[in-house]
Amino acid sequence: MMTAPLRAGEITVPVALGDRGYDIAIGRGLLAELGKRIAALKPGARTVIVTDETVARHHLRAAEAALAAANIQNATVVVPAGEASKSWATFQTVCEAIIAARIERNDLVIALGGGVVGDLAGFAASVIRRGLDYVQVPTALLAQVDSSVGGKTGVNLTSGKNLVGSFHQPLAVFADVDVLKTLPPRELRAGLFESVKAGIIRDPSLFRFLETHRDGILAGDSAALQRVVASSVAMKAEVVGIDERESGLRMILNFGHTLGHAIEAVTEYKRLLHGEAIAWGMLAALNLSRSRQLLPEKEAQRIAQLIRAFGRLPSFRATAPQLLTAAGRDKKNKAGTRRFVLTTGIGKAIIVEDVTDAEIIAAVEPILREARR
Ligand code: NAD
Repeated sequence: MMTAPLRAGEITVPVALGDRGYDIAIGRGLLAELGKRIAALKPGARTVIVTDETVARHHLRAAEAALAAANIQNATVVVPAGEASKSWATFQTVCEAIIAARIERNDLVIALGGGVVGDLAGFAASVIRRGLDYVQVPTALLAQVDSSVGGKTGVNLTSGKNLVGSFHQPLAVFADVDVLKTLPPRELRAGLFESVKAGIIRDPSLFRFLETHRDGILAGDSAALQRVVASSVAMKAEVVGIDERESGLRMILNFGHTLGHAIEAVTEYKRLLHGEAIAWGMLAALNLSRSRQLLPEKEAQRIAQLIRAFGRLPSFRATAPQLLTAAGRDKKNKAGTRRFVLTTGIGKAIIVEDVTDAEIIAAVEPILREARR
């Protein structure tokens, strides 16, 4: 694979997956260079940008201009913003539009947007004409630190989230931290929780950076954001490189997600952003880890403090039995058991298979009381 010229200050994180391996570039001004980079990555390819209406308003013109400047023929498909677009119906519309744009096997799909667009466009790329190449250009922090890396794609069904999907690794990821300037502050904070997770489960130095640079990060300081994105992505890339299909180590990425997903489901995906639900879920998983005396209390306190450091989490109402039922339906649980990712200290996580309902209830009750406010 040809590599594009590097810019000063840019960070490149490789994802080591053999012939499906790829680089993640994290830097400033990458969107303006999209054409040049794609021309180097896949010479002669035509492209189709898939994006949503909000991202299109802010960044589509720059992306299209960059492609035009490199003489790349591009078509664009715009879907409504929001989780509702990760649907079977929108998926079909996107597929039809990509075919209508006469995109062939040797062309390229560009996912320009947050996790919704990344999952949707990535899934379309994985099945159209039995598989097209695609690149991720994540524009939301959550997408930059998490969803654009690792190759999970998919859409939701009425019966649940992400139930139809595939593993399809992108050819490259271009994370331009400058595009985060237009991201609503609440979305920025929600994305940060995935970085907090990365610090908790595997990267003590990222954990400390988040502790000490909170204000700069929240103010949108580019250098601080670049460091946060790069470290989060490096952690995920390493884990995915070891266990692409989530048969072992990759499960640690689900820290906070078992209950987080349950909270999202019980609140019908309306009240909380994904990252916010994960933050509540991490507080519950921390309680579970504490009750098993897996970590020193001082570290538990620092973890709780960091989760709470990025602003007040939105309230919600749910009962423990509701959460247990919803968690039982999570496709990540093996039938009949409740698997949890717990932390054994800052930068360390373990997978535990034998968590009982009584333990979970004891861990979530205080969280549910706090969330009710
Ligand atoms: P999203 O894609 O809906 O983006 C959030 C909002 O921010 C949207 O309204 C979007 O239009 C807007 N936005 C994005 N970039 C912007 C920018 N630069 N300026 C202004 N507005 C911008 O949601 P998300 O939080 O990015 O992603 C959530 C989705 O990601 C969920 O569907 C979740 O299941 C999925 N996800 C996937 C993975 C994976 O591994 N594939 C991992 C985690 C989450």
